[in-house]
Amino acid sequence: MPAFALEPEQREWCARLRATAAEQLRPLADKGDPGRVNRPLVAALGELGLLERLFTSGALDLCLMREALAYACTEAETALALQGLGARPVAAHGTEAQRTRWLPEVTSGRAVAAFALSEPDAGSDAAALALKAEPGDGGWRLSGEKCWISNAPEADFCTVFARTTEGAGARGVTAFLVPADRPGLSGTALDMLSPHPVGTLVFDGVCVGPGDVLGEPDRGFRVAMGTLNLFRPSVGAFAVGMAQAALDATVAHTARRTAFGGPLKDLQAVAHQVAEMATRTEAARLLVYAAAAAYDRGEPEVPKCAAMAKLLATETAQYVVDAAVQLHGARALRRGHLLEHLYREVRAPRIYEGATEVQRTIIAKELYR
Ligand SMILES: Cc1cc2nc3c(=O)[nH]c(=O)nc-3n(C[C@H](O)[C@H](O)[C@H](O)COP(=O)(O)OP(=O)(O)OC[C@H]3O[C@@H](n4cnc5c(N)ncnc54)[C@H](O)[C@@H]3O)c2cc1C
Repeated sequence: MPAFALEPEQREWCARLRATAAEQLRPLADKGDPGRVNRPLVAALGELGLLERLFTSGALDLCLMREALAYACTEAETALALQGLGARPVAAHGTEAQRTRWLPEVTSGRAVAAFALSEPDAGSDAAALALKAEPGDGGWRLSGEKCWISNAPEADFCTVFARTTEGAGARGVTAFLVPADRPGLSGTALDMLSPHPVGTLVFDGVCVGPGDVLGEPDRGFRVAMGTLNLFRPSVGAFAVGMAQAALDATVAHTARRTAFGGPLKDLQAVAHQVAEMATRTEAARLLVYAAAAAYDRGEPEVPKCAAMAKLLATETAQYVVDAAVQLHGARALRRGHLLEHLYREVRAPRIYEGATEVQRTIIAKELYR
């Protein structure tokens, strides 16, 4: 087996996905309200069978989908990833009733999902989460706040992580499936740099019962980490898709734009910068594919590889998009330009699902194990 090469069918599938994203999804994304859930876009992802694929495919397939969609339509990419993040815990740990009620709605794009782990006082240190689950009426009452939750408050249901045992850290957290219409649940949309739907969730004595638990009581942190482990390399794939889009735009632009009597590409400083962007993008892509393939094979090295892939790819995409802006000059900063859009989009993945520094901590821990 080569160190890493996609099969011809995989490459063809990615090319088809990029074309579909550009032709069918981009126009729907353009019609959406930035920062709000775009339901026609989610429905289109369902009609194309991509949401179904989130639940039937492995980590590498997920990466290929995210990279291809990100290349042509970051909004579609994000909408797809969030359906997976919010509903994978239901597929993996839900009861028959929960799965029957929600998964067909999610895969058709009729229902929108959210994954609610972060809180105002618990971000990187997720095990410090404090959303209270107090026992009562044969179940629990949830009180507190979640913050920076993608798709909140518009999502139709949320996978919510709450504290069922005080002082037990990661061992006292339970995952619940909370439908949006539960009395006492509200939230507010937050205006972010990227056109990403993000908001808060406020729980004012929201009742949940044993039938709402995902997995087992006090074992919810495993549900969260299992989901994030699957998604970690694919955040890198999202970044690689954006880097590739920025790179291709730069190759085209520097070949066309003339200055000092010739195209920009004839200036060695420019050509070498583009070569560096291409090399770093390819290196990040290979690490992402390798980490995803290792996940699919169930290899023990996954935590280290996945952290390396997320770290390298998100940092590389930031570098590549920034360099692409530089080589495009002023036009890249005009609102509506592809690079103005990517410049805003590329920043958040270095922070969410484990900030760059947290990935380094994971890698170091594995090295010194
Ligand atoms: C666009 C977007 C979408 C999001 N969507 C979701 C979602 O759907 N669900 C959800 O639950 N959360 C979501 N989040 C929240 C995200 O997971 C948190 O922002 C992230 O975990 C970091 O937490 P924090 O922002 O509170 O930063 P903090 O934890 O306060 O950290 C701030 C900074 O401190 C540094 N730092 C932190 N810990 C360490 C460490 N151990 N070692 C060294 N340096 C460190 C890093 O530089 C870090 O960026 C989203 C965030 C964004 C920006």
